[in-house]
Amino acid sequence: MTTPSATSVPTVKLLIDGKFVESTTSEWMDVTNPATQEVLARVPMATAYELSAAVSSARAAFKTWRKTSIGTRARIFLRYQQLIRDNMAELAAILTAEQGKTLPDAEGDVFRGLEVVEHAASIGNLQLGEFANNVAAGVDTYTLMQPLGVCAGITPFNFPAMIPLWMFPMAIATGNTFVLKPSEQDPMVTMRLVELAMEAGIPPGVLNVVHGGKDVVNGICDHPDIKAVSFVGSTAVGTHVYNRATGTGKRAQCMMGAKNHMVVLPDADKEQTLNALAGSAFGAAGQRCMAIPVVVLVGESQTWLGELVERAKTLKVNAGHEPGTDIGPLISRAALDRVHRLVESGESEGARLELDGRKPAVPGYEDGNFFGPTVFSQVNTEMSIYREEIFGPVLCVLHAATLDEAIELVNANPNGNGTAIFTRSGAAARHFQEEIDVGQVGINVPIPVPVPLFSFTGSRGSKLGDLGPYGKQVIQFYTQTKTVTSRWFGEDDVGGVNTTITLK
Ligand code: NAD
Repeated sequence: MTTPSATSVPTVKLLIDGKFVESTTSEWMDVTNPATQEVLARVPMATAYELSAAVSSARAAFKTWRKTSIGTRARIFLRYQQLIRDNMAELAAILTAEQGKTLPDAEGDVFRGLEVVEHAASIGNLQLGEFANNVAAGVDTYTLMQPLGVCAGITPFNFPAMIPLWMFPMAIATGNTFVLKPSEQDPMVTMRLVELAMEAGIPPGVLNVVHGGKDVVNGICDHPDIKAVSFVGSTAVGTHVYNRATGTGKRAQCMMGAKNHMVVLPDADKEQTLNALAGSAFGAAGQRCMAIPVVVLVGESQTWLGELVERAKTLKVNAGHEPGTDIGPLISRAALDRVHRLVESGESEGARLELDGRKPAVPGYEDGNFFGPTVFSQVNTEMSIYREEIFGPVLCVLHAATLDEAIELVNANPNGNGTAIFTRSGAAARHFQEEIDVGQVGINVPIPVPVPLFSFTGSRGSKLGDLGPYGKQVIQFYTQTKTVTSRWFGEDDVGGVNTTITLK
């Protein structure tokens, strides 16, 4: 860690009470371009005082924001979606520089978040209560879905545009105020999105941003004025956040690690299947929570392994901004070291290395964190490469004799984020859909991240908390349902003392 005065590199600002301000901390981290190691900016580890100021500002803003009309809230997000569209190329370029993914994939990252902003703009149709007329004579019951107060979001490095946009637009559109803690590894595109949100008309204090790592996250979990915490990241950290936040009475939703399996039946369209598999296993250098790091080849489809490896070899490893790149660098040296360690363990534990992506040649970017597409066959469920989340471009190939054997294997894995089946048989696909114990299922679709008409619905070891981000479920998450039962007395109403619990 260094101090910002040591260099002329720009600093990433905090957003507190509507102002972008320099942190007073003495702890800073470099934000580096993973293709070149160039230091792009320095990000502060905000102090406890700064977190407290952000929460106080959000708490004060809640008093008026919670009463803001539906139309006013919706129009801010209508303006915001246009601003994101207008600035798409700049947003993608910032994202690629600090995160590494290819420019088209960076646009996809922004676009999948933009869809949530569009959804937030229809808040008038989403945050509707229920009404029952005459639940007793002259008595009506209805519900109000009221905002909770200050909510917080903690986001990972791999989707620095989409995942912050899963959180603050929906929380704010439902009448809450928000404190965002972006990933310290790539906070710059998130901050550009935050600037655009303020330009769209979000009032001071309604959205605040603090940067940092463990201490700031713990501060969020413990803060008595924060009512709900949304987290996306690894299983270890998410479990800690869930326990710590709920332990202080907060609502929490934690979307965590994954080990997604694709099941391939021999009747599948071979071309489509292998293209989808290569794209989802190696795209974004395998750093997607909905990547496919495990394929289960069923029956005769085992003979497709050679063609799969040939396809993987055609993918171009290069800096994300270079035209024609398929696979950019990994986020950090630490991530690169982890992938190297796991590939070595795969070899020593007896898997067969069909394609070795270690140390790919990337002329002009010799210092980048590159790892090429890697394929292991003869993988079993005891090996570290199967048990751990590699989060790199490494595909494990397993075999199953039947669809039911494949389903059993997927269901025995502790993770439940996503899965996919490739087949031409409707009956087999339906059987899979019914029997598979995973929250998000693709049928001939490799990365089934639901659009915001639905919610993200990971399950089992990949999720803690009942309600998912964005979509319908998050309206419940960010609101408290109040049930009102009301009676208005007319002049002619006569009463008497009623000592029972029934309404008359
Ligand atoms: P991470 O868990 O390291 O970091 C996530 C957030 O937690 C960051 O903001 C970070 O600052 C903070 N953090 C890190 N260490 C902490 C600690 N010890 N205590 C408290 N806070 C801490 O995750 P990452 O490496 O940024 O992201 C990759 C992980 O996220 C993968 O496991 C991936 O599967 C998962 N992910 C899941 C989903 C999903 O929807 N299920 C989506 C994207 C990413």
